[in-house]
Amino acid sequence: MSDDEEDIWEEELDEEDLEDLDSGRETVQEALFWNTASSAVLLAGTNKVLVVEGPDAGQVSEVNQVANMEEEIAPALIGRDEALDGTRPIFLAHRGGQHHRHLSHVLTRLHQGHGNDIAVGAILKIHGQSADASREFFQQCATAAVRIADPACYMLDEDILRLKKDPISNLATNRAPYLKGPDHAGFVEDVLGAQRDLRANLLLTPGRALDADSPKNSLNALFQEGENALALLERGERLALNLTLPARWLISPSLREQLFNELLDRDEHQIWYVRSQWRAQRSYAQPSDIELLNGYKRLCELALDEDRRLLLPQTGLTGWLMLAFGAKGFGAGSSGTDQAFTEPSFGRKPGAIRKQRYFERQLLHAVERSVHDVLETATDYKSCDCPYCPTLWNSPSWSHEFAGLHLLYRTGQLVAEVEEDTKPGGRHSAVRRIVRDALKYVKNKELTDINAPQHLATWGQLL
Ligand SMILES: [Zn+2]
Repeated sequence: MSDDEEDIWEEELDEEDLEDLDSGRETVQEALFWNTASSAVLLAGTNKVLVVEGPDAGQVSEVNQVANMEEEIAPALIGRDEALDGTRPIFLAHRGGQHHRHLSHVLTRLHQGHGNDIAVGAILKIHGQSADASREFFQQCATAAVRIADPACYMLDEDILRLKKDPISNLATNRAPYLKGPDHAGFVEDVLGAQRDLRANLLLTPGRALDADSPKNSLNALFQEGENALALLERGERLALNLTLPARWLISPSLREQLFNELLDRDEHQIWYVRSQWRAQRSYAQPSDIELLNGYKRLCELALDEDRRLLLPQTGLTGWLMLAFGAKGFGAGSSGTDQAFTEPSFGRKPGAIRKQRYFERQLLHAVERSVHDVLETATDYKSCDCPYCPTLWNSPSWSHEFAGLHLLYRTGQLVAEVEEDTKPGGRHSAVRRIVRDALKYVKNKELTDINAPQHLATWGQLL
């Protein structure tokens, strides 16, 4: 690796800063991938089709509207309530600022291949793009049973979380006026209204950060907002209690107990949407702090025992691990910002180039391209057969977009693998087997620094 390459995933930038980076860099190979003729598959039990390739990929259409029909039949689409109340785990794709154009393609292919075993959903942040772009994104994702427009009100809590300087820009308040501040009577109503306006189908409470130095007051405020939001729900709407927690809330036994007791007492909230801020870390790294992971595990177990649905947005593979303990679903994206909600890191060199990283399914980790090249030559290597890798490896220059789509698709497939594992022991055993295989695989490999999957040992312990 050269010195001007840096392990960055723009974690200190927000979606809006990245909005324009998607355009104008497409290689011939990428363009060819997307500019194929439309093709579709029949949706089971209907006379509609799901467009799987071409410009309208991800949408539902009529048979005679699509040039080519593939022979396969895709599982029937499911609705929000079936996804939330049924047994399937939910895989949520985040529309980040980058590489979002084709997320619907990933969701569509995941649904086509695994729609009987997993539910898919989509998350966007309200302030991250224009309202039209948000609605268009949801509209493209016909397979997304759950649609979440995250109000990201935790950005108002600079004194509790570590956020980038001046986290709320003028552009953000234009797109999400409620971010001007919570000090008016209609705040909760405005937050719900903004989500409805984008056609989200699972509404969230504002999700202000909980202050670990003032636990009682912040829990009271959280449930007060929850109560207000419930009172404002309209017929057919559903609400998730949105929590933003500095990691201390999951690590400290006494804070955890206060939080868990309150969550249990408030059984009007059946769905928990929980985001915890991790320490700054290298991109693609998973937290390997056993105390933190143990806190997550306890939260998952609580949700499972009490029949609540726990969604863990912005957790990436760590969220996948938590399926073993009772999480209902988790969110991941095609770039680092969407994999983890971390404290900002300020060490970025101006003009640095992003490293070329590739997610290795066998390692449960992303490595540098040069390391991939070595791994690939070994006899125990299994090549990826996802829809994106042929284009990724055939492009003359590295496609961060296709590397991201590959990552997202393979993460979704990991969810399906857990669900499709028919050996006894349920999800817990299925996850443990996958992690054990990764630990075995890594044993005779020389992986150092960012290429070493440091989290695996802790995961093994936790399982
Ligand atoms: Zn792939």
